[in-house]
Amino acid sequence: MNYEKLAELLFPHITKTPADWIAAFPPRVLPEGAKVTRLAPSPTGFIHLGNLYGAFTGERLAHQSEGVFFLRIEDTDNKREVEGAVEAVISSLAYFNVRFDEGALGEMKNGKATDVGAYGPYYQSDRAEIYQTFAKQLVREGKAYPCFASEEELAAMRETQEAEKANPGYHGKWAVWRNRPMEDIEAELAAGKKFTLRFRSEGIDISAADCKLTEEEKASHMFTVTDGIRGRLTMPENYQDVVLLKQNGIPTYHFAHVIDDHLMGTTHVVRGEEWLSSLPIHVQIFSALGWEPPVFCHTTVLMKMDGDTKRKLSKRKDPELSLNYYRSEGYHPDAVREYLLTILNSNFEEWRIANPDADWESFRFTTEKMSSSGTLFDLNKLNDVSKDVLVRKPAEELYAFLLDWAERYGRAYDPKTRMYCDPEDPAAADAVDLYELFRANEAKMLRILSIDRTGEKPRKDLVYAKQIVEYFSYFFDETFVPEDTFPEEVPAEDIPEILEGYLARYYPEDDNSVWFDKVRSYAEHLGYAGKPKDFKKNPELYKGHVGHVSTVIRVAVTGRRNSPDLWTIQQIMGEPLVQARIKRALGGA
Ligand code: GLU
Repeated sequence: MNYEKLAELLFPHITKTPADWIAAFPPRVLPEGAKVTRLAPSPTGFIHLGNLYGAFTGERLAHQSEGVFFLRIEDTDNKREVEGAVEAVISSLAYFNVRFDEGALGEMKNGKATDVGAYGPYYQSDRAEIYQTFAKQLVREGKAYPCFASEEELAAMRETQEAEKANPGYHGKWAVWRNRPMEDIEAELAAGKKFTLRFRSEGIDISAADCKLTEEEKASHMFTVTDGIRGRLTMPENYQDVVLLKQNGIPTYHFAHVIDDHLMGTTHVVRGEEWLSSLPIHVQIFSALGWEPPVFCHTTVLMKMDGDTKRKLSKRKDPELSLNYYRSEGYHPDAVREYLLTILNSNFEEWRIANPDADWESFRFTTEKMSSSGTLFDLNKLNDVSKDVLVRKPAEELYAFLLDWAERYGRAYDPKTRMYCDPEDPAAADAVDLYELFRANEAKMLRILSIDRTGEKPRKDLVYAKQIVEYFSYFFDETFVPEDTFPEEVPAEDIPEILEGYLARYYPEDDNSVWFDKVRSYAEHLGYAGKPKDFKKNPELYKGHVGHVSTVIRVAVTGRRNSPDLWTIQQIMGEPLVQARIKRALGGA
């Protein structure tokens, strides 16, 4: 077979040579040991926690070593592509402060982000000529060949393989176009038939029932790689003649990954474990092109507990898999990152305890401390971490964060159902615009967000924006919905007397202790113990104790039996609102 002729026949339009491209992508000039990593999402419109987990890994490896972290868009599968998906990816990653140095990051033009950096184009769909140049080279060297098998023929092949219990795929005797004469190829081309370009694998199927090799010979068809996360892995070599270019000349993931990561100088490929099974293919393609493969780092899948069993997080069942979930619920990006770091590196938590105030970037991240067998993701744990992260945020920063969140997600909130509606929906006419509410009440919000959050034992009540909205909803009439009833210990007929008496005695000028002394003496006056312990000792002497009385006031003012310090709450609410709440409760009591 004249491979040179075949290459010209298949790729007459390709005039560049691999050397031209190699020259266009010179080796990067970086300090010794610097790592080059990338995130390579497909624009399917769904960006998930696994992407972020991988992104943090890649980002850390690069930036801890003075290397480069870039963003490449793998848009070779137009069937799965969703409009606006690239913008969504970029904005989502930016929200979580994933910092790229180069890639598809610039301003949007015709629906595409422009290139930042010298190793582009960073959209695979713009790199067809590059892939085809290397494809042509492989044909020239007899390492790739055209396959004209139709979908029907391939389906029939799969059926026969199933019936014969043969290993599936295009290999060995099934690879019917592997050794076809030139005339057959020319005839197909002349008839206008399209071809896929297949890799001519030199591998042998050592698992085949009719494999006659000795154990020793079989062993020579295994290969070993050292995965950055999983350590040494020994796997059987690839024996499939996989597709490199689809009929439209666009590469498969296998081929695009090898070409791009080589030309772009990637030193560490961080990707999900779903790619582990095709690693033998990639290693073989690297070798066919005469290139050294990068270090592969296959991250584990994220799991969750479902009852007593651990299972993979699923797109269909688990909204928390999507990154949008965290954004719309209003998780602070620092909290999500802090939590992901705890599951990314097993020693992060320990480090954090020893260095509570340190910048997360000073933690030494390593792939060796990453799990290789299913990482457990736990929303409750994220919430705990978030409390610790938020308690360290000054009120001003939290306020700015809530305002940003509300502008995007809180324009139509229904306090009764606690639902967030579409502001365009006419049914949302009565909904509260939290953005406007927060904006109009900056000073008050800052005081609310400062309650008990400093000092020796700060309250860690704040978790994420939607929860924070619930948490302080009683401060504003717009969002106030009473939650609790008056305490059962207090007889219903006492409630008006307590509230009326309180109203008469309430002076906002009183400091906390004067205020409480008044509540206490009024409680005593009504026959309640001034101290809970006195009531416990002699319950028959009292109707209840001061705690019960103050809970009545608390329920009237806040609609809840539990809240932070009531005096502080009232100071923030101001006299008119406190009075209105008491009167409102009296009206309904
Ligand atoms: N486009 C692939 C994906 O979204 C990326 C795999 C890789 O990082 O190489 O799964």
